[in-house]
Amino acid sequence: MSLVVHQNYIHGQYLSNGTGETFEVINPATGQISYLVEVANDEIKQAAIASAKQGFAVWSKMTAMERSRILQKAVALLREQNDVLAAIEVLDTGKPWQEASVVDVVTGADAIEFFAGLAPSIEGNQQPVGDDFYYTRREPLGICAGIGAWNYPLQIACWKAAPALACGNVMVFKPSEETPLGALKLAEIFTQAGVPDGVFNVVQGDGRVGAWLTLHDEIAKVSFTGEVGTGTKVMAAAATTLKEVTMELGGKSPLIIFDDADVDNAISAAMLANFYTQGEICTNGTRVFVQKGIYPRFIQKLVERTQNNIVCGDPMDEATNFGALISQAHQQKVLEYIEQGKSQGATLVAGGHALTPENAPNGYFVAPTIFTDCSDEMSIVKEEIFGPVMSVLTFDDEAEVIARANDTHLGLAAGVFTQDITRAHRVIHQMQAGICWINAYGASPSEMPVGGYKMSGIGRENGSETLKAYTQIKAVYVGMTTLESPF
Ligand code: NAP
Repeated sequence: MSLVVHQNYIHGQYLSNGTGETFEVINPATGQISYLVEVANDEIKQAAIASAKQGFAVWSKMTAMERSRILQKAVALLREQNDVLAAIEVLDTGKPWQEASVVDVVTGADAIEFFAGLAPSIEGNQQPVGDDFYYTRREPLGICAGIGAWNYPLQIACWKAAPALACGNVMVFKPSEETPLGALKLAEIFTQAGVPDGVFNVVQGDGRVGAWLTLHDEIAKVSFTGEVGTGTKVMAAAATTLKEVTMELGGKSPLIIFDDADVDNAISAAMLANFYTQGEICTNGTRVFVQKGIYPRFIQKLVERTQNNIVCGDPMDEATNFGALISQAHQQKVLEYIEQGKSQGATLVAGGHALTPENAPNGYFVAPTIFTDCSDEMSIVKEEIFGPVMSVLTFDDEAEVIARANDTHLGLAAGVFTQDITRAHRVIHQMQAGICWINAYGASPSEMPVGGYKMSGIGRENGSETLKAYTQIKAVYVGMTTLESPF
């Protein structure tokens, strides 16, 4: 059977690269090739930029209200097509349908709705200066590049496109080559909704296509989601033409559970923060610090729930709540970390191996894994694994756990569980992290700005903050009197 070939999406339609050069996309749950995608070669890249310029000329001239109405139509289409789009995300990522059908498209649509709603409220100000005055205009930046990771492909494309387009910019988006289809479907939806041609183009390929975007002198901004190492390369490349950057990078976040916490809720949080999307979430609370008094109860129930409640298998099966990792290479990387955990002296109390479920025997599954007796120096505790591997650590007092939680170059997220309201805020205020939760973990509504401290990122996504990152201020001084001049 011949495989479907997807092309790049340029100027409101699919465009052939002329050479037929393609790459393969693998279904992580089966190990089989799902479809092929044409690589963005020089012709496609040039067409993407030429089209984006035309798109910008049209889109930036529209009123914010007009843009808002069009984006709201895209929101409605995303919601109408929820199930088709969610199935694409399952096929590409290996995550469970149970999640994708209620989270990925929904949260993507929410972000577009949020920014579409804000667009008409973008305003400048004015101030008198004697008889003269000045005023400011918030103007779009121009062509923005979006570069996405593979864990939430459609959601990431929506989160980047939403503020960019709402502010009158255009975007050239490059999804991860492992999950290229969601962004193409979003591009189709934008066109159906009435977004002008060239406003959202999708170019396909590996990191080289991403690198080209970061160096291009006609691109004003790069919004990047991915690993810290890639982020530093992207920022260095963007600096060569002084582009604005937004960096959404990795984390190794602490989840701190005090003796007085509701133990069942805290276990739910620890499981969500390590096993949701089979552990492939940037904000994961992979360092679970448990105060010694609650530890025996916590660990016993945590292991019981992990052994009894995880249903691993074909991600499209409605009963499955734990899917496949993105690739065989990633599965190997996660298994290597597990070996390091064992050899460095941590105690394995759950998982620790690959899984071959009956209804998906060839997928890249790793069992939900819990280590105890962890210490702060172990590689499983220090490094981002991006898989279902939880490290449980114990602590005695508040000052100690704050110092240990912050002892990392990363600072994406943090969580605290306690019934003591003052302690909850006191501890969270001392966390060196951009996204924090008290008696909750993982929720990320569009209204809430998200992003990292330290090496976990620069700038924010979502929340009204983000509008500033997609506009630039023009100050206009207006003379009302005869100019004084010594000449
Ligand atoms: P990655 O390897 O850094 O890749 C991210 C994107 O960058 C991909 O599209 C990749 O292309 C592209 N790329 C690679 N090299 C590049 C270069 N030199 N210049 C420009 N682009 C380049 O990250 P990943 O493995 O896809 O994603 C997992 C990481 O993302 C984790 O660290 C996770 O924590 C992080 N993440 C962060 C957030 C957040 O909001 N903070 C959200 C989700 C994920 P190819 O993959 O096609 O080669």
